[in-house]
Amino acid sequence: MIIFSDQSPTSTEQMKSMAAEVHQHRNGHANGKKAGLFDMFYNDIAIDLGTVNTLIATKRNGIVYSEPSVIAFNSQGSPVSFGREAWQMHEKTHSELRTVRPLKDGVIADFEAAEHMMRGMIKCARKKWYSSTRQMVICVPSGITDVEKRAVRDSAEHAGAREVHMVEEPMAAAIGAGLPVHEPKGSMIVDIGGGTTEIAVIALSGIVNSQSVRLAGDKLTDDIIHYFRRIHNLLIGYRTAEQIKCEIGSASPLGEELEMDIKGRDLVKGIPKTLRVSSEDVRSAISQSVNLIVESILGSLEATPPELAGDILDNGIVLAGGGALLKNLDRRIAERTGLPVYIAEDPLTAVVRGTGAVLDDLEYYRAVLV
Ligand code: ADP
Ligand code: MG
Repeated sequence: MIIFSDQSPTSTEQMKSMAAEVHQHRNGHANGKKAGLFDMFYNDIAIDLGTVNTLIATKRNGIVYSEPSVIAFNSQGSPVSFGREAWQMHEKTHSELRTVRPLKDGVIADFEAAEHMMRGMIKCARKKWYSSTRQMVICVPSGITDVEKRAVRDSAEHAGAREVHMVEEPMAAAIGAGLPVHEPKGSMIVDIGGGTTEIAVIALSGIVNSQSVRLAGDKLTDDIIHYFRRIHNLLIGYRTAEQIKCEIGSASPLGEELEMDIKGRDLVKGIPKTLRVSSEDVRSAISQSVNLIVESILGSLEATPPELAGDILDNGIVLAGGGALLKNLDRRIAERTGLPVYIAEDPLTAVVRGTGAVLDDLEYYRAVLV
């Protein structure tokens, strides 16, 4: 099946939903804002294009898409699937199929693949065949270069956006976490994604200081793969290592240590094997990288002006991104810094919710745009 073909109004269901929407727009916007006559033909969207996950929110419907940042191509180079379906194929492909993760360390590494993936995902998110994207707010890592920004903008435009706005990821995460970004009060946000850990102090709608460390969830997963190869002579795949990390990975001792069975290939005998592993084992595999993340946070605190450091002492550090879900990471950071540490509500969606808030009220958030 070709998944990128344009959809057309095939069913009466679609015609009915369009009629309902016309009605809704004539009678004012669902969230209380007045809708322009032609707004229903546009679907303005907010995108969190992450190394591991891509999330899309629209003005009217909130988060409408959340799937892995992966795309699969056939041997002719045509895209065959993306998101969760492509992720199922990852590392299980044959010569006719190739999966690509177009982002590396938070930035686009494979432009063509990124564009195909974005186009497919946006189409999925839009659902309505008659709407097109007018405004797009997309978040970018705080450390990226002008060339990298240009590349993101080009990809977004090629994927169909007429007007592209960019917001820095830590700012989006802070807004999504409900921090008072406009106030003269310092907030520290740490967004731990797949490729990068973004640490930023925010006040008065701006980023006072920020650090983008190219070490995050993916590195912990790699550490687990290497550890099992080195210590247990067991070769495991990326997806298995991810599962181990999420289920029994931790940053400091757990009240009750955990165990799980994992499958891989015995490097000595060359045959598949099951091994029972403990959370202590996994913790030692990732401890060095976890340490580096914690020390980077400490470094950022040291670089924070004293008045703002005082605010952070009162308000604590807020963690966002999937990495925030690593067991006991909050406790480990709290112990090392002596500050209160909080995990944002639903940390995996904080960035897209913040980006969506910016899209909803571009005027109010003008100062935070890149
Ligand atoms: P990105 O924005 O870079 O796409 P995300 O914020 O979506 O990244 O977070 C993805 C990362 O979070 C992955 O490395 C994933 O393994 C990690 N992650 C997700 N859930 C957990 C968990 N429960 N424990 C540890 N890491 C997790
Ligand atoms: Mg992210």
